[in-house]
Amino acid sequence: SERTLVLVKPDGVSRGLVGEVISRIERKGLKLAALELRTVQRALAEQHYAEHDGKSFFADLLDFITSGQVVAAVVEGPRAIAAFRQLAGGTDPVEKATPGTLRGDFGLETQFNLVHGSDSVESAEREIKLWFPNL
Ligand code: ATP
Repeated sequence: SERTLVLVKPDGVSRGLVGEVISRIERKGLKLAALELRTVQRALAEQHYAEHDGKSFFADLLDFITSGQVVAAVVEGPRAIAAFRQLAGGTDPVEKATPGTLRGDFGLETQFNLVHGSDSVESAEREIKLWFPNL
């Protein structure tokens, strides 16, 4: 079994899509190991997105992720990392994500793509430590 960090980003929370995201996670057969509504401090956002430091969209990304509440979750199950990324769909909600995925069904713009899911075992371990140090 594997663990992944899932975020419902501020656009997903403000649009009332938390239930939809959690529901799809549960219906897929994945389990919630932690779940929390929280406000993201700038320092946490910078660490979370450190790999994007220097990119054109970095400042906008930090402004966005700190612009409202997020739901952070640790999701567990067989191949949880890939399984959640399948539920999320590709980064660009129109060009990459297909209908039937969260981003494909509910997203329009890459910056406002509703959810985050860790992209590897290494990222998942790093991100879970960052968001849930006591887990
Ligand atoms: P996430 O890491 O949030 O799950 P991802 O792995 O699909 O998304 P990354 O390439 O890691 O995508 O980008 C991280 C986030 O940065 C994206 O989810 C999106 O919100 C934002 N982002 C990426 N590319 C762009 C872009 N060209 N313009 C604006 N925002 C972008």
